[in-house]
Amino acid sequence: MQDTEKTEKGTRRGYYGEYGGRYVPEALIPPLTELEEAMERIMPSREYRERLHDLLVNYCGRPTPVTHCGNLSRELGFELYLKREDLLHTGAHKINNALGQALLAKMMGKTHVIAETGAGQHGVATATAAALFGLKCTVFMGAKDVERQQPNVQRMKLLGTQVVAVENGSCTLKDAINAALRYWTSHQGDTLYVFGTAAGPHPFPLLVRELQKVIGTEARAQMQERLGRLPDYVVACVGGGSNAIGMLYPFVDAEQVKLVGVEAGGTGEPGCANSAAINLGRPGVLHGEYTMLLQDADGQIEESSSVSAGLDYPGVGPEHVYLHSIGRVHYGIAYDAEALAAFRRLAAAEGIIPALESSHALAWVFSHAAEIPAGSTVLVNLSGRGDKDLAHALQYIKL
Ligand SMILES: *Cc1c(COP(=O)(O)O)cnc(C)c1O
Repeated sequence: MQDTEKTEKGTRRGYYGEYGGRYVPEALIPPLTELEEAMERIMPSREYRERLHDLLVNYCGRPTPVTHCGNLSRELGFELYLKREDLLHTGAHKINNALGQALLAKMMGKTHVIAETGAGQHGVATATAAALFGLKCTVFMGAKDVERQQPNVQRMKLLGTQVVAVENGSCTLKDAINAALRYWTSHQGDTLYVFGTAAGPHPFPLLVRELQKVIGTEARAQMQERLGRLPDYVVACVGGGSNAIGMLYPFVDAEQVKLVGVEAGGTGEPGCANSAAINLGRPGVLHGEYTMLLQDADGQIEESSSVSAGLDYPGVGPEHVYLHSIGRVHYGIAYDAEALAAFRRLAAAEGIIPALESSHALAWVFSHAAEIPAGSTVLVNLSGRGDKDLAHALQYIKL
């Protein structure tokens, strides 16, 4: 595992190169340490592995298929394949993580799970897992997002979850994470914080990667069986980085495979708000980790912005910053207009409506088609389905 940095002084757990770590108030060390110990004790156990596997197969619909896009491949001159996380229960990869963490909470003897959510997708996934396991669930959501994302708020309530509108700061995801961490500080006895992406303080980046790497592990075996070899490119969108690390990590040791993470560039106008922390950020500490962050000249965290709410985060998981620093993964950018065009193009050409987040990964492939050698095999992680984005996307697309 690459969660430990080797230094002259030995190893530092929870570091990816110099990134990651656990930069939190003293009061959060005990629950993070308890979680780390539970990961080491419970996750390798046969009971945990069998119960999770059974749920991933029989409740969520794993393994998800890999679809060859015949129509687009003819247009593009290379073979385009999609890993179909959009076909999972609740419509995106987030359930892999929420279910794994909620099962861990249950087996730790916790009775309450909490989560942050921005667009509402991780909140819905956690609410779903909590309903299944009979756990009490509280989701912290920025007041602005509560207003913007009513359908997901209603879904969470229907699933029996309490949604807390956070009225601090910019009233968005960043503030919801702070509120959830603060709540956890004073309720660590019965509560586990189910973190939504491969970021935050150690052990969350490791835990989330371990639960999401099922995506790339499956895809690697599926491509090997189908083609007798691995793809030439593997591409995924990067918000906090969970679907991307889940897809890319199992390919890191396959040096011939080009790996690409795609960040959201926003409108692309000079100086515009965006969500491209690796491409446009600087190092700093946010939410307990040392990572790349969008910040102004004074080090204040900047508001991120993207047409897709799920990519709207000013930071990024530390393992991505490390994989960028060693040059193993290339991190590109797709802009709002390119993502909207890709959203439309996949729907019309293949009959699949992608999430606007996943559309960024597709957009990078479309805009770099000229550089991708003819006959190449390109595998894109379709992290979620786009039904949730229809109303929003149709404000920009004229049908
Ligand atoms: C939340 C979300 C993302 C972005 O989160 P990551 O942690 O970067 O994967 C991407 N795609 C979909 C469909 C999402 O719901």
